Amino acid sequence: MKITDVKIYEYDAVVVGAGLAGLAAARELTAAGKKTAVITKLHPLRSHSGAAQGGINAALREDDSTELHEFDTVKGSDYLGDQDAIELMCSKAPETVRWAERMGAIFSRTDEGTIATRPFGGQSKPRACYAADRTGLTLLQTMYEQAHRAGIEVFDEYYAADLLYEDGKAKGIAAYNLRDSSPAIFNAKVTMFATGGYGRAYKINSNAHANTGDALSIVARKGLPLEDMEFVQFHPSGLGGSGILISEAARGEGGRLFNSEGERFMEKYAPNAMELASRDVVSRAIMEEIREGRGVGPNKDAVYIDLTHLPEETIMTKLPELRELAITFLGQDMLKEPIMIAATAHYSMGGIPVNKRCQVRQSPTEFVEGFYAAGECSCVSVHGANRLGANSLLEALFFGREAGKAMIEDLDSIKLAKATADDARTMIDEFNWIRENNGDERVPALREELQESMTMDAGVFRTAESLQRQKEKLAELHRRYQNIRIDDKSNTFNTDLQEAVELGHMIDFSLFIVEGALAREESRGAHFREDFPTRDDEHFLKHTYATMNDDYTVSLNYGDVVMGKFEPQERKY
Ligand SMILES: Cc1cc2nc3c(=O)[nH]c(=O)nc-3n(C[C@H](O)[C@H](O)[C@H](O)COP(=O)(O)OP(=O)(O)OC[C@H]3O[C@@H](n4cnc5c(N)ncnc54)[C@H](O)[C@@H]3O)c2cc1C
Repeated sequence: MKITDVKIYEYDAVVVGAGLAGLAAARELTAAGKKTAVITKLHPLRSHSGAAQGGINAALREDDSTELHEFDTVKGSDYLGDQDAIELMCSKAPETVRWAERMGAIFSRTDEGTIATRPFGGQSKPRACYAADRTGLTLLQTMYEQAHRAGIEVFDEYYAADLLYEDGKAKGIAAYNLRDSSPAIFNAKVTMFATGGYGRAYKINSNAHANTGDALSIVARKGLPLEDMEFVQFHPSGLGGSGILISEAARGEGGRLFNSEGERFMEKYAPNAMELASRDVVSRAIMEEIREGRGVGPNKDAVYIDLTHLPEETIMTKLPELRELAITFLGQDMLKEPIMIAATAHYSMGGIPVNKRCQVRQSPTEFVEGFYAAGECSCVSVHGANRLGANSLLEALFFGREAGKAMIEDLDSIKLAKATADDARTMIDEFNWIRENNGDERVPALREELQESMTMDAGVFRTAESLQRQKEKLAELHRRYQNIRIDDKSNTFNTDLQEAVELGHMIDFSLFIVEGALAREESRGAHFREDFPTRDDEHFLKHTYATMNDDYTVSLNYGDVVMGKFEPQERKY
């Protein structure tokens, strides 16, 4: 890759990511006449948003209210969510779902013809609007069509490798074309990251292969902060062995959990909500049963979810994809027998810190000019320490649009800082180094060590000892990464090279997860410290802001949580 080959594009706005958040923002921008480029390493319809099954929350029922949705979200967040952002999102949820419907998304219906809602964990009322068990796909296709209709320009199979950032100001990105490795600069007045989640740092996870958290590490390498990275959600129901998701809809529709002794064990952990307690509670219950030897399956590393008591019609009309997944990957048919599940790394609450307008923070109180983020890669923070099911599609769609609107408002007062080919230097150096480095470490082997050790030592259960061990492991992996070698030296769809870049990103942001978790000597939401099993509001009712230093250490800072009408209480389900 050569500096003389760098192609420079100029846009009003560049949006990285074509999932729900990125497409929603790009559609707003384009519809408002702003020249917008969407950069994505996948075809937009392959974005992970399309894998979402269960639903999108909105208080649409007569017996529900946006205030109740807010309360459930604040409680679910274990009081770490910012209540101003939660209030905004929940109050706009009905409007957002109706807007998606008007745009063409076809939701499942009640007999009366209104949008149907199903119960989800941690919710006082059935609130998850759904399109069978293909909600994400329906929404993503709708947004893609509408963004196209507005005339978005998509650069798909382009890998965004660097942010053009200097002195509190962003002016676009450096990217390369995965087809032929040709380098490009996308120079813009405003830049947005909507790159999704990063569950691939864990061995057992529900995420797409592309969910490698590139943007987080790109941001961190600029010395900018990441927020609340220690909070990683483990979903209770990943298929045994692989972690492929069996949506919460399976429990929402009535699925029951059993251990090897035939006990419906949630009675012990959440006597009221049972299987529909929040995800962190159910995941820990499952893993506890397994640890105590009451697991099922050949390795005793799963529990059963049983849906055989449900009418066949319910499964065939409301959960058809889930049934197919279990048949394909486990050979188990949920119509006839219980299927094996265990907790799987699923969602990342932390990310690039932003305010309600999706502007990226360079410190708890200052913002980067011309830089925005939304969706799972960002931390706004509506999910705090634990996200409620079906709040994330809502977040991506709602805040994606908000980011688009904020960029439209801000664009005119921002002057384009011109980029030159030299701005691609960091990307080109990284690319050429990986291609030519002649060490003896292999990327797949290092990645496996990363994923196994993160699952083991920074997973559902954590202690100072396990986290310290993982910190040292990451330092070792970082060192060994300097000594990698790839075989494919070509320029055409060089996936060896892409995977090496992605591994570098995964090692970097994992350090933020571990350092944040080590310092947070309490248990809150998805972060569970066996050596500090209770929540400590006196010392830790605050957001973590972590930054990377030149010597590959991480410094931690803390910032206030935005409180509101809901005072912290003990969380019981
Ligand atoms: C199996 C599964 C089921 C889920 N079910 C639900 C559910 O029922 N309800 C709910 O609310 N939430 C659900 N979630 C969570 C929810 O789907 C996601 O949080 C949300 O869709 C994220 O949207 P996004 O737009 O932020 O990112 P994504 O949809 O993940 O899109 C990310 C985009 O960024 C691009 N990208 C990333 N890195 C780069 C790079 N370096 N260069 C260029 N492009 C890049 C990708 O190509 C992609 O287009 C589920 C998640 C999973 C994994």
